[in-house]
Amino acid sequence: MSSQMNETLIREVIQEVLGKLGGGSSQAPAAPSTPPVVASSPSYAPPSCGVSSSSKGRHGVFETAAQACEAAQQGFLQLQKKGIEARRQVERIVKTMCEDRANEWGKIELEESKIGRLDHKIGKLQIIGLVPGVDWIRPDGRSGDHGITLEEYTPFGVVGAITPSTHSIPTLAGNIVNIVAAGNAVVFNAHPAASRCAAMAVREFNKAIEHETGIQNLVCIIEEPTLESFKELCSHEAVRLLCVTGGPGVVKAAMQTGKRAICAGPGNPPVLVDDTACMKRAAESIIQGAAFDNNLLCIGEKEVFALENIADELMGAMEKAGAVRLNAAQLDQLTQAAFTFKEGQGAGCPHAVVNKDLIGKDVSVLAQAAGLRVPDGTELLFAETDASHPFVDEEQMMPFIPIVRVPSIEAGIEESLKAEHQYKHTSIIHSHDVNHMTAMARALDTTLFIKNGPCMAGLGLGGEGYLSFSIATPTGEGVTNPRTFTRVRRCVMVDNLRIY
Ligand code: NAD
Repeated sequence: MSSQMNETLIREVIQEVLGKLGGGSSQAPAAPSTPPVVASSPSYAPPSCGVSSSSKGRHGVFETAAQACEAAQQGFLQLQKKGIEARRQVERIVKTMCEDRANEWGKIELEESKIGRLDHKIGKLQIIGLVPGVDWIRPDGRSGDHGITLEEYTPFGVVGAITPSTHSIPTLAGNIVNIVAAGNAVVFNAHPAASRCAAMAVREFNKAIEHETGIQNLVCIIEEPTLESFKELCSHEAVRLLCVTGGPGVVKAAMQTGKRAICAGPGNPPVLVDDTACMKRAAESIIQGAAFDNNLLCIGEKEVFALENIADELMGAMEKAGAVRLNAAQLDQLTQAAFTFKEGQGAGCPHAVVNKDLIGKDVSVLAQAAGLRVPDGTELLFAETDASHPFVDEEQMMPFIPIVRVPSIEAGIEESLKAEHQYKHTSIIHSHDVNHMTAMARALDTTLFIKNGPCMAGLGLGGEGYLSFSIATPTGEGVTNPRTFTRVRRCVMVDNLRIY
């Protein structure tokens, strides 16, 4: 073993021990090869120019938001110094680790969050390679009689990111790739129900990043996230931008912070099936999308509107493809288990609140709640309902889908619009009539609109395009990518450098 290897090994062991002790002072930071660069973009002045002693050996995991933000600011400065190649290394590390450790990390996440399916938890990590990276960041140039102008996509500094319980490590990993590819550092406040696995992943990413690039704490996390730590993170002066992935509560809270927020909010995606569609393809697509990770995807099919002349054929095709149909009594039993009905809300009608205990649970658990047994391997339950059923109205995230008959395409579009609640997230149509497709696309006005495929085709899985687990809907950035996390800066050369 070479002395270089020995030194690296010793450094790793010391870091490991110090990490377990909660930080220490004897670790030698990687020696800078070039003089420190003074960050030009963030106005926030970090406490010191080197790595502060409290952040050593933590591998990005901190008790408080302030500690995490200060360490991330240092990480940002180190990344700036190391240049574009270091961003590429980080992108490679995160994508490779997600693929290599998908089985192990998928299991860890499922054990902690207790929602979703193991095969899909693993699958979501195996596809992080589809998230764009450093190559996405290209400058725009203009050349004319008066010289040359270059517009560059430059980093903000530290980004504060909030991740959901539904895909904790995949969202975190995808966010890291996009945010760091743009040259930023990041601090996460994860969902408390999936925060241990998030901290574990951050620790592992940092160990590899530190080992390969010498940069410490580029990716930080608050070990025990709370609403208080969310507020501290959002108000910390080092944090220049927020990336929030979650439901309506956190989107509202983020928008009230006064910081610029990229919000990937809730959805309740409707599916419309008309009488020109291929029923087999529609049925199989609906099952594939709605069953994925027990319907935890924000883009996942949540309710179906079927023209009445093909509704029976569609439901028959769904049964043939393996979904199990509930009768009226079973639907009623499942509805009672899946929702609590509270008085009030405007017109005085009872308001349905989703029972969290059934979110993301397996089909067998739902079937038991509905009072039936289903064959092993059943992926989805469905039943015919009316358009005002709580399973249509609420973003229920369970492997069950309601099917509603509609008399016309116009009625189907109108009901889809109501069910989508103007989240402007995702909608889907199965049709070969371009007029129907166009009418629905225009009326729904959603960020993703998928024709003749499962929801995931909208994120490059079976359709064209790239992946992100943060689809910025209310704030309009769409499927987030490295450019989402940049500031555009212009550099102008007057009357010169044009070469023709
Ligand atoms: P959630 O809203 O309960 O939690 C999301 C995150 O926000 C968590 O980190 C949570 O701790 C935090 N949070 C929640 N309320 C908060 C508040 N008032 N103040 C501060 N922080 C708060 O959501 P979840 O159950 O973890 O995830 C599912 C939701 O997220 C669904 O609504 C789904 O549609 C949405 N989602 C959207 C996308 C997207 O890309 N648009 C992706 C995944 C999930």
